[in-house]
Amino acid sequence: MNNIFNKKESQTLITGGCFCGVITYKINGKLRDARSCHCPECRKAFSSQASAYALVNPEEFSWVSGKNMLTSYKSKKGEGLQFCSICGSTLCGTFNGVIQGVTLGCVNDDPKIEIGMHIYVGSKAKWEIIPDGVIKYQEGSPEKI
Ligand SMILES: [Zn+2]
Ligand SMILES: [Zn+2]
Repeated sequence: MNNIFNKKESQTLITGGCFCGVITYKINGKLRDARSCHCPECRKAFSSQASAYALVNPEEFSWVSGKNMLTSYKSKKGEGLQFCSICGSTLCGTFNGVIQGVTLGCVNDDPKIEIGMHIYVGSKAKWEIIPDGVIKYQEGSPEKI
């Protein structure tokens, strides 16, 4: 490891971890493009009404503990998820094995980012009520993210 700590001392370190606490990670940088996707695939992948997910620079992300307890799932398209094999928390999203983003539910404290948009609300679950006032799109965002 180089002098990354000295260089970014003023920046708040983002940390996260799974429900049982065995797997933890840190991000020496910022999260970006936080979004919530309400499509059926994301509902399954996140076991929830929608995803809550933000992108991360892969080189700024590192596992702190429990990496050997991660299980990786990869879809045919190359998109994948990594989750704790003990408690089942989904921690991050990958593309061809490289970390692309983290699930906001497993981030500790205040990562200084808010969900900027709700996408694929046109295919949301019938039982979900989306509050007024949030930025939402029937399908994907008009800007490509
Ligand atoms: Zn766990
Ligand atoms: Zn989705």
